[in-house]
Amino acid sequence: MRISVIGCGYLGAVHAAAMASLGHEVVGIDVDEAKIEALRAGIAPFHEPGLPELLTEAGATGRLRFSSDIAAAAEATVHFIAVGTPQVRGSNAADLTYVDAALADLLPHLAPGDVVVGKSTVPVGTAARMQDVLAEGAPGAILAWNPEFLREGFAVKDSLTPDRIVVGLPRDADAAATAEAAMREVYADALATDTPLVLTDFATAELVKVAANAFLATKISFINAMAEIAEATDADVTQLADAIGFDARIGRRFLGAGVGFGGGCLPKDIRGFIARAEELGRAESVAFLKEVDAINLRRRQKVVDHVVDLLDGEPFGKKVAVLGLAFKPHSDDVRDSPALDVAVRLKGLGADVRATDPYAIPNARRLHPQLDFRESFDDTVADADVVVLVTEWDEYRYLDPGALGEVVAQRRVVDGRNSYDPAAWHAAGWTYRGLGRPQLGE
Ligand code: NAD
Repeated sequence: MRISVIGCGYLGAVHAAAMASLGHEVVGIDVDEAKIEALRAGIAPFHEPGLPELLTEAGATGRLRFSSDIAAAAEATVHFIAVGTPQVRGSNAADLTYVDAALADLLPHLAPGDVVVGKSTVPVGTAARMQDVLAEGAPGAILAWNPEFLREGFAVKDSLTPDRIVVGLPRDADAAATAEAAMREVYADALATDTPLVLTDFATAELVKVAANAFLATKISFINAMAEIAEATDADVTQLADAIGFDARIGRRFLGAGVGFGGGCLPKDIRGFIARAEELGRAESVAFLKEVDAINLRRRQKVVDHVVDLLDGEPFGKKVAVLGLAFKPHSDDVRDSPALDVAVRLKGLGADVRATDPYAIPNARRLHPQLDFRESFDDTVADADVVVLVTEWDEYRYLDPGALGEVVAQRRVVDGRNSYDPAAWHAAGWTYRGLGRPQLGE
């Protein structure tokens, strides 16, 4: 297939490279010239494990090209729209200006029979609206909706071997048949290995994505709510999660209590869902998502409160080593990152915050240049009054509390991801604070 991918960010760049490696002719298009320059040179513009190798491999086949000129899409017959849908400032709603602009830019380059495939996460109803725009601006072109479920950090694997493929098709039978045939050819490899394919309507396809994210966010906030109760009762939420997780109907995954979720998807997607439900007159149906969001944000403050508590209520001028800035390990993405938020809040209290991360410092610095970033771990923790784990990169998870204790000023740790063994840290002389776990020391 000849494919264009419009928007080469965390989703689009990986999707473009994956499609080329599966044998398609792909052009990735983005308005960000610097990103396109990097991709053309085979350099991943962000940290995603396996993407550099995939770009090199796909680039060598000659099937993967990148352009900042939308006219390059004219050669393709299937066009994925993978541009951003961030939260509107000052509102819960999703900002659709990039999706609308991408479609408007694409219209003059479409031919009858071309299939435009929405991949961005959008509020339900967007595809129907876009189909009207398409009918007016590019008669004969067809819309399909194919939400993406890749996880940053595992995006290459998830793009090459998705766990399911969902496609929303138009109501018109001929258009639906053309779109379905195109999607079956695009995903032929995955379908040959029995990857589930859900063929549905536009609204269901759009809703599947936000419902999946709402469910995952709810699961995380559920266990974080239990952490709050555990804190009031000296119970241990990690044992509670293990115990309820043995029930196959519940499952242990996504039951890690801690500083909560973040990133470019979950927070803005649940807020966008709340906003859309309000427009639909169904605010009460997802009112619980407001609580999910509130629980999540409270956990960030709880980490800050632990730090302040360990500093006897006087954070001003105290050296705080913040381990992690990315919203999760294996990514350099700091959009709505709980880790970065904790660093900023502590800095706001006057603490002498030194923050580190293996990959996310450049992105974090762009958003918060006022923070003191340290490339070196040793530099970050030297003479620290408190160490705070907020992104569970392996290099921070498996620290030796004995060795670390030799270089800090005070053996005090806040484990924002419940990653450490409290007894081991306590035995090494540390005062330990986790989330929803018994506190050890002082
Ligand atoms: P991103 O911000 O990393 O990338 C978006 C890209 O689109 C940017 O490079 C931007 O320059 C480009 N762009 C904007 N307007 C354009 C235009 N008119 N023409 C061409 N390019 C344009 O965002 P992302 O994380 O890749 O997310 C993209 C969409 O995919 C969002 O709707 C998101 O919710 C969804 N999604 C993301 C993930 C993920 O893990 N990142 C997973 C599933 C779904």
